[in-house]
Amino acid sequence: MQVPAQFEYARATSVAHAIDLLRRHGPESRLVAGGHSLIPMMKLRIANPETLIDINDLAELTRIGLDSGLLRIGALVRHAELLDSAVVGEHFAIFRDAERVIADPIVRNWGTVGGSLCQADPSEDLSAAFSAVRAIAVIQGADGERTVPVREFHTGPYQTVVGAAEILTELRVPIRPGGGSAYTKVERRAGDWAVAAAGAVLWLDGNTVSDVGIGLTAVGAAHFAAEEAEDFLRGRPATEESFAAAGRIAAAHCNPVADQRGPVDYKRHLAGELTTRALRRAAARAAGAAVETEGA
Ligand SMILES: Cc1cc2nc3c(=O)[nH]c(=O)nc-3n(C[C@H](O)[C@H](O)[C@H](O)COP(=O)(O)OP(=O)(O)OC[C@H]3O[C@@H](n4cnc5c(N)ncnc54)[C@H](O)[C@@H]3O)c2cc1C
Repeated sequence: MQVPAQFEYARATSVAHAIDLLRRHGPESRLVAGGHSLIPMMKLRIANPETLIDINDLAELTRIGLDSGLLRIGALVRHAELLDSAVVGEHFAIFRDAERVIADPIVRNWGTVGGSLCQADPSEDLSAAFSAVRAIAVIQGADGERTVPVREFHTGPYQTVVGAAEILTELRVPIRPGGGSAYTKVERRAGDWAVAAAGAVLWLDGNTVSDVGIGLTAVGAAHFAAEEAEDFLRGRPATEESFAAAGRIAAAHCNPVADQRGPVDYKRHLAGELTTRALRRAAARAAGAAVETEGA
């Protein structure tokens, strides 16, 4: 089936208007941002919303900026804008690395940060990147705004804490000096979804890892994170041995499933190896070394 079922269409003019439209049209209405996940699902009739509420006019959700020690990224920021943002690249190279390997220019020109997180695909790259940096999601509803750590945002495959009449408005990432970050992915061909991918952000105190965040995608990691590996690394020397051991721990604690992208053992191996590589590159960046983005 390549044609969606019939639906109503409404165009929101503000966040408040979008929330009002969601309330008026009820639980069978859906927001549409870039449409690169939702529209294909509608064509396949996996999703059959009665009303689409288009949020593409909401300029208030398109900003990227620094504010009070936070990097703030609007939910309607397109993948291409995140990739091109100098301020994002300066503070969190992990997003630049990730965006270089998400889909193709057509999807990146239209698909959004908010749509990616809300789609909650278990192989989504940005979910792992935002999990690694421990971002905060800002969600707005009729009763006001609430914040949720990204590690509590996803409640299962294709499920999030965003309510039926709520909208994800922004991601906030705390900025701390002395850090470095990186993202690395294995895909079957350029632009494809991950077979496995890992992101890391790491802060050094001399040669000691003072803090670390590790994100994983496509390998069934709880909250898109490798918390056991993070706990192991904190306070240890930033050495190749530590990073390899952290990789082994990440591999042991994830839960990949076999599918057309590969068997369980292969994905588990990738989870470990990619974690080690991401940590190595993040540490080099934290130490001030010039490290090329993979594939650049
Ligand atoms: C060919 C192709 C290849 C791809 N490859 C990759 C890849 O390699 N890696 C990867 O991570 N992704 C990949 N994607 C997915 C792509 O990045 C996402 O589909 C897309 O960015 C989702 O964003 P969107 O704006 O298009 O969301 P939409 O399709 O508009 O929406 C997706 C879901 O999120 C909801 N939603 C959207 N915005 C909000 C909001 N602000 N608040 C609450 N709910 C909201 C919608 O109601 C819908 O349920 C690929 C997609 C395609 C088509």
